[in-house]
Amino acid sequence: MLTEGPVEHIDCAVVGAGVIGLAVARALARAGREVVVLEAADAIGTGISSRNSEVVHAGIYYPKDSLKARLCVAGNRSLRAYAAAHGVALDMVGKLIVATDPEEERALDGILDHARANGVDDIRVLSAAEARAMEPALRCTKALLSPSTGIVDSHALMLSLQGEAEERGATVALKSPLLGGTVADDGVRLRVGGAEPMRLTARRVVVAAGLNAPAVGRSLGLPGVPRGWLCKGSYFSLTGRTPFTRLVYPVPVSAGLGVHFTLDLGGRGRFGPDVEWVDGEDYRVDPARGTVFHDAIRRYWPGLPDGALEPAYAGIRPKIQGPGEAARDFLVDRPVPGVVALYGIESPGLTSCLALADLVKEMVG
Ligand SMILES: Cc1cc2nc3c(=O)[nH]c(=O)nc-3n(C[C@H](O)[C@H](O)[C@H](O)COP(=O)(O)OP(=O)(O)OC[C@H]3O[C@@H](n4cnc5c(N)ncnc54)[C@H](O)[C@@H]3O)c2cc1C
Repeated sequence: MLTEGPVEHIDCAVVGAGVIGLAVARALARAGREVVVLEAADAIGTGISSRNSEVVHAGIYYPKDSLKARLCVAGNRSLRAYAAAHGVALDMVGKLIVATDPEEERALDGILDHARANGVDDIRVLSAAEARAMEPALRCTKALLSPSTGIVDSHALMLSLQGEAEERGATVALKSPLLGGTVADDGVRLRVGGAEPMRLTARRVVVAAGLNAPAVGRSLGLPGVPRGWLCKGSYFSLTGRTPFTRLVYPVPVSAGLGVHFTLDLGGRGRFGPDVEWVDGEDYRVDPARGTVFHDAIRRYWPGLPDGALEPAYAGIRPKIQGPGEAARDFLVDRPVPGVVALYGIESPGLTSCLALADLVKEMVG
């Protein structure tokens, strides 16, 4: 019975061992705190953190002074330094954002203003000819070049963060789902399930549960938990030769950045993610969505051969706004003293992980 047995008292509990929970655990452990990471799955990083584009974003699109803008720009710098110091593969391949008609060219001007306001100083405008000189397969009327965009091995990053946290005394408890709890005067009482159920009282709790964060927040009785929405993004891999050496993005669409071209660190190309609001976690990729991909991609890569796209994988964005509603910022909430709950940590969460972890470390007290 979970209600029986001794209660263990700990300093900090982090719920979720995705890239955010692990970065938070590392930051807290480095600050000398006792940390237990509770992870429901049997391995780290099986959630959103292993189903994304692995892009190190520069901080271009997000509204000025938003957490997304600030943490992405700071996180980009920290992540590059971290990867270099810890041998995590990261390649600053650069990115082109391309316009294919006058309306998109106007949108590019807005993106450029945002980027500069956010402190992304190295972004620059390219004519169609300049862009084609860099990427001959590209069709566009104008482009932006972001040299501070790259790709990172997200799994190697997570292993490194876990290793560092554990070296500083943190424990990562796998197969240890948080079932619920209550906020009390002496800390937060937590009921943990799994093969070896436990009861813990933690002085500090950080909720970094990705798609499940609103449910975890509710299970702890926290005030102000937002409604969560699931927004799936499917990817298609490219068979045959990779047309570009940089990442290529169209002008963003509502709820996503548009069907873009990214490379993995092995040099393989893929396109995605698209935008599909869903009711449950289903990661299958519907081959029929390939038709829409073909049309979207041919706007900037007319040479896409028929049949070159294969369904690859899908990820789900942890949205805290519904379809058609205005985009929301990361929600880094401190609903009660000693608890920090993270909601809506969609892109650029991977890029921002180290900067976000520093913020959480300060907020948790
Ligand atoms: C399609 C897509 C593309 C993206 N592309 C990029 C990109 O290119 N660049 C970028 O910077 N960002 C990108 N992102 C965003 C980035 O992937 C996320 O912000 C980041 O991975 C979120 O990490 P997390 O740790 O919050 O969540 P997760 O990785 O999902 O980790 C949460 C963990 O909590 C665990 N958990 C849940 N409930 C419980 C419970 N009750 N008890 C214990 N454990 C629990 C889960 O098992 C999971 O392991 C993308 C996201 C998506 C969906």
